[in-house]
Amino acid sequence: MSAVFFEEAPEVREMSEKIIDKHHPHLKDAKEVIRYYFRDGNSDWAGKAKKCTAFERHVTGYMLFVFINKDAWRVFTPDQRKALVDHELCHFRRKSERVWNEKTKQWEEKYEPAKAPDSWQMRDHDVEEFSEIIQRHGLWETGIEKFAAAVREADYQMDLEDYEREQLRVVK
Ligand SMILES: [Zn+2]
Repeated sequence: MSAVFFEEAPEVREMSEKIIDKHHPHLKDAKEVIRYYFRDGNSDWAGKAKKCTAFERHVTGYMLFVFINKDAWRVFTPDQRKALVDHELCHFRRKSERVWNEKTKQWEEKYEPAKAPDSWQMRDHDVEEFSEIIQRHGLWETGIEKFAAAVREADYQMDLEDYEREQLRVVK
């Protein structure tokens, strides 16, 4: 058994906010409701995204959490870090409606308020990567699998079935 620690991750936030400006228009006015943590301790995933529970909102004042495995962050290249953070951001979906802007004569996306819990939903993927992550970063998961392999060798032996299960669970 090993201990698990969490700490805020300003460098993840910094990278994330650049990615938001480029690729996630639905998060542009919601930067302050996302909290970023490093998770220090054994885990079989490199990153995780979650919508806060009512209690987590009460305690932290945030709506959404991104967790990054500290060991993964340490061994990833800058490109892999970007792909990981971009991937986690893709999990956040925000309710919106299309409205006609009379001034610009264009349809625009009007998002529900960032600070209303009901505005937020989680978007899931099974085993496959989000298509836009593949477009933007290629099949970056090969790097992730290497990370999983390194952790496996260092920490414990697994049989083949565990190994295959692991392969599917590294990115969450
Ligand atoms: Zn995921």
